[in-house]
Amino acid sequence: MKLVFLHSSDTHGFLLPTEYQDKDNYNAPFSLSRVSAAIKAEKEKYGADNVVVTDSGDCLQGSPLASYAHTVKDFSALEKFTDAYNEVGYDARCLGNHDFNFGLDYLTYYIDNNKADIINDNILDEETNVPAFGREYKIVEKNGVKIGLLGVTTQYIPHWEPKENVEGLKFVSAYERVKHYTEILRPQVDVLAVMYHGGFESDPESGEATEPHRGENEGYKILTEIPEVDVFLTGHQHRRLNLVTKNTAIVQPGYRGEAIAEVILDIDDQTKKINGMTTKLIDTKDYDPDQKIVDTVKELDQSTQKWLDHPIANLSEPAPIENAMKGRLEGAPFVNLLQQMQIWFT
Ligand SMILES: [Zn+2]
Repeated sequence: MKLVFLHSSDTHGFLLPTEYQDKDNYNAPFSLSRVSAAIKAEKEKYGADNVVVTDSGDCLQGSPLASYAHTVKDFSALEKFTDAYNEVGYDARCLGNHDFNFGLDYLTYYIDNNKADIINDNILDEETNVPAFGREYKIVEKNGVKIGLLGVTTQYIPHWEPKENVEGLKFVSAYERVKHYTEILRPQVDVLAVMYHGGFESDPESGEATEPHRGENEGYKILTEIPEVDVFLTGHQHRRLNLVTKNTAIVQPGYRGEAIAEVILDIDDQTKKINGMTTKLIDTKDYDPDQKIVDTVKELDQSTQKWLDHPIANLSEPAPIENAMKGRLEGAPFVNLLQQMQIWFT
């Protein structure tokens, strides 16, 4: 049989195909609505019984719509936002670092109202040392094949977040926890897949270091030291990756929903062993937005546009930037204004 993984990551609240710069342009080549359409089309092609749909986080923050949703204090905007993600039909998801940006109450509402299983192996309750939310793993059965799913998130989050956003939580090495749960899960399943909101500290093929090894990205260590992992569904670095190396299928589908990643495993019907694996990225620009998501967030989108149009200040004279690079280096009235605002707010 063919077992198909469809994976998204780092959609960053870009629910509709717009950057919110040009009010009339809803034709941008990305968005969750296009991701959803692409996933539904591939699911149709291979049959739902052969498909596992996953996501590795960074959903709550990034787009202007995501920022607007956070300003609505009764969570009614977050409710629609969460509904949009539910519409995709994920089997399992893990969290990203940016999902912590708006605080724990906001994140908890999102987790509690998510229809997919959130898998979390390395964000622990500081006191009990057990995962603070979500499930430790999930076993999905597709056509008699048992698939084990783990979920981990970059342990670097406390370096970026204010204390109150991570209060009571302990972030530990994704590598350590994948190793621990692999021992438990591997004997129970035919295929082991790991969702990771994290990427690679070294080139997956050559092993050459691509950044300082500070624990933010532990993908290479997981790849090389935990050979039991068959499918490695990554994110965080916003890279476009799809390859098979060291008997592991690796994918990372860019950001903002520009692509979904597809892993196809060819599985022996008798032994349930993997005979072959292929990977690819499917650009979502060729898929019309999923109308259900468009309808779900229509009002939220209109409110976002109104919010963006709200005047925040008046300038006594025009402040055009003639040369953007020069403006950054030497200052220009409008750049100075933005930077003075940043200084004031921080
Ligand atoms: Zn991201």
